[in-house]
Amino acid sequence: MTIKVDVAIIGAGHAGLNAVKEVRKVTDRWVLINGGPLGTTCARIGCMPSKVAIHLAETYQIRERLGRYGVEGGEHLRINQQAALEHVRDLRDTFVDLVLANTTDEMDAEHLIDGYAEFIDAGRLKVGERIIEPEAVIIATGARSVVPQEWQDADGVLTVDNLFDQEQLPESVAVIGLGPIGLEIGQALHRLGIEVTGFDHGERLARIADPVVNRAAIDIFQREFPLLFGHEPEISRRNGGFAVRSGEREVAVEQIFFAVGRQAHLAPLKLERLGVPLGAQGVPRFDPATLKVSKLPIYLAGDATGGIANLQRAAEHGRIAGFNAVHRRKRRYVSRAPMAIIFSEPNIAIAGRQWNELDQARTAVAQQRFGPVGRALIMGQNRGMMRVYADRRSGRLLGAAMVGPRCEHLAHLLCWAIESGFTVDRALDMPFYHPVIEEALQDALIELREALHASPARGGWRRLAPRLVGT
Ligand SMILES: Cc1cc2nc3c(=O)[nH]c(=O)nc-3n(C[C@H](O)[C@H](O)[C@H](O)COP(=O)(O)OP(=O)(O)OC[C@H]3O[C@@H](n4cnc5c(N)ncnc54)[C@H](O)[C@@H]3O)c2cc1C
Repeated sequence: MTIKVDVAIIGAGHAGLNAVKEVRKVTDRWVLINGGPLGTTCARIGCMPSKVAIHLAETYQIRERLGRYGVEGGEHLRINQQAALEHVRDLRDTFVDLVLANTTDEMDAEHLIDGYAEFIDAGRLKVGERIIEPEAVIIATGARSVVPQEWQDADGVLTVDNLFDQEQLPESVAVIGLGPIGLEIGQALHRLGIEVTGFDHGERLARIADPVVNRAAIDIFQREFPLLFGHEPEISRRNGGFAVRSGEREVAVEQIFFAVGRQAHLAPLKLERLGVPLGAQGVPRFDPATLKVSKLPIYLAGDATGGIANLQRAAEHGRIAGFNAVHRRKRRYVSRAPMAIIFSEPNIAIAGRQWNELDQARTAVAQQRFGPVGRALIMGQNRGMMRVYADRRSGRLLGAAMVGPRCEHLAHLLCWAIESGFTVDRALDMPFYHPVIEEALQDALIELREALHASPARGGWRRLAPRLVGT
């Protein structure tokens, strides 16, 4: 059977679904092709269930502070892991249902095709027995977990793809890869009562480029559970479980959780048949502004473009690819001040430019510890450190890296300021309340203002006196 359409969208994640919204404003001749379960990566295995597990683990962890507040009996509290996992699945299913109700549930079989697509050539797609001849194609096939060949489909190997479907959690887990997913899930599992050891071949936690913040973060999380850096972890089978070696250290665990990265999910599409050059991860060369692949009427969107996965970027890509697929005049993707948030406790966040992207000679740096921040002390979470960067010539804010309480909100404030071209002085003109975590940012900015006027030889920063009760 051959189907002729204006646009074929491959992948019903946030990128693909947002593309559909744009396309259907102009034409009804479109198809959305999706292989695997509907409901999006974000809702099924990604952003949402991981945050439910983190929230649950964080809530259980509070029992360790209860004694300090005069609440007795905290040490007798026990978590029922099965019930906890059930709660994660309940909420996950709610998120999936919400996505489905607002998107694919109302699509008929003419528009929504179940199956994996592959290109026959640049003008034709194949899905099972069906041949589709679209005027334009949007590739929004997402990314998938990388698992070393020898451990794919092996018993006892977990990734985010199967973690939340487990009925029972193991007693011990080795988390391989301490990027954002490894740290978030590793900490949550540890707090749910599993013996967790983290392994990474590099020296960076959660991809933090700033060496001072990276050190502070490692110190904080290493106090909670062991993190082993600097050696390629060697994994072998041992007594029905696994042994994982990192340099001189070896740890025996029941299961492995792989978090060594996610890769654009493009191989099944057979993109080599398009006759365009393919780069890293098999991603075809494309214009990052229009998202167009070479001179073909083919667009890439979301995690399928490679790089760091980001839900908001996937949605915006989808809108732009959808619009461009049905309009001559193209819209352009404008990248905003980058932001990354790791929902560990304490949070890790990056706003704007990273340390390794800065011209050090032109950059003023200030740092602020969360230790003396009044609000953080009240919350019993006064751990962490923030470093903020500004351009010496213009005084403009460039970026920040931080590990500390509620940094998810500080990262937003900073990104909005950076995106608006704020100088440090302008940011300090903004209102601040008391006692709030934002006062840590205010102090860092005061410090940064001084650093801007200091010579780089002085080091650009000095510690502020503790601020417990406001200015
Ligand atoms: C554990 C985890 C935590 C995360 N946390 C965050 C977070 O806190 N914040 C954040 O911004 N982002 C987070 N992300 C990333 C975010 O979930 C993704 O960036 C986003 O969901 C990607 O959307 P997408 O539309 O590109 O792809 P997806 O939602 O993955 O959709 C792709 C769809 O295409 C289908 N498909 C693949 N190949 C084919 C084919 N050949 N034919 C047909 N269909 C195909 C897939 O089955 C899938 O349904 C997280 C991801 C994970 C895994």
